[in-house]
Amino acid sequence: MDGAPGLDRTKLLAARFRAATDRPYLASALYSLTVVPSAAVQTMGVDRRWRCYVSPAFVAATPVPHLAGVWVHEVAHLLRDHHGRADRLPEAARGEHRRVNVAQDCEINDDLRADGLLLPEGALYPGDFGLPEGRLFEEYLPGVPPQPECDCGSGAHGLPAPWELDGSAAPGVSAVEADALRRATAEAMQAHVRARGALPGGWRRWAERVLEPVVDWRRVLSGAVREAVAWAGGAADYTYRRPSRRAAATPGVVLPALRRPVPRVAIVVDTSCSMGEDDLAAALAEVTGVLREVGVGGNRVSVLACDADVRTVTRIGSAAQVGRIELDGGGGTDMGAGIAAALAARDRPRVVIVLTDGYTPWPAEAPSCRLVAALVGADPPVPPAWVETVHVGPTPGRSA
Ligand SMILES: [Zn+2]
Repeated sequence: MDGAPGLDRTKLLAARFRAATDRPYLASALYSLTVVPSAAVQTMGVDRRWRCYVSPAFVAATPVPHLAGVWVHEVAHLLRDHHGRADRLPEAARGEHRRVNVAQDCEINDDLRADGLLLPEGALYPGDFGLPEGRLFEEYLPGVPPQPECDCGSGAHGLPAPWELDGSAAPGVSAVEADALRRATAEAMQAHVRARGALPGGWRRWAERVLEPVVDWRRVLSGAVREAVAWAGGAADYTYRRPSRRAAATPGVVLPALRRPVPRVAIVVDTSCSMGEDDLAAALAEVTGVLREVGVGGNRVSVLACDADVRTVTRIGSAAQVGRIELDGGGGTDMGAGIAAALAARDRPRVVIVLTDGYTPWPAEAPSCRLVAALVGADPPVPPAWVETVHVGPTPGRSA
């Protein structure tokens, strides 16, 4: 795939070199992009794993200074986490990925122009749609029309483009590495501002946001869930239940098989009326999303809706089903009842995740499972010390 006929790599890489030397704070990010030549992509585009798809014809037709601008444009989609932010749009907006892409290009291109970068003809700016400069794409979105030819790839609008490779076909950047690159770039930008002072406003605000010490509850909650599942999976490493393959070669000796069982997980949802439904639904979506990611899905997860009593026990097969759980209960709350019901199941869960506002009695002593509580609301009461607690507060960037 490297060296596909017709790609002038020297020119393309000279343009990247130029972009990185003119703006050294972008160098690490620019050099983290893997080049994938593709005749199917119109100009250049990126996927979620920082693979940069490049049209050989576009490279041939575009002067180096403009190509340098496009390099910065593409890496800006990734640094600004456009795909992550697109994932968090309301569902109806997420589906309109061409429009999302136009809004994102507007967010990037006014900064690039203010920075003196050249872009090829056809580059879109907020002014093209009568919109003010210096806004975020979420703000531009209602005011821009879709453009059929505007497709910067899943690294921008989130939807895989037809020309994108699958996961392992070319080296890429992981989500964790991407976060580290964003931080390093933001720090380099602030150092640049301290030394010389010139940075477009959009980039300056972006760097401030990245370095803000706001803790996103989603990250903390998903970290706690991952950790609990890994713990539960590793807690029963050795078992004699299944003989290992080596046992066949050693007659008469039973060797323990190394297993990493996928643990069962129960989610107990507090449906009492004091809960904010949006935050509760967001917390539930986050938990089920992480469980899917770590391979705990389908019939290994049970969801219990609970107020003073356990009302319903639902096994979830897909995220879509979660939306159908009745989240309205009412009356008193006792999460202890929900935890007890979860642990009474025939296939006992090793991890129990409780989503609650915290106004509930807790079991008198620590249950024999890993217990994670996501506390929804501004100032929830403190549960006993043995409950691992994550506070689900207002989402950063959204008003409380
Ligand atoms: Zn773009």
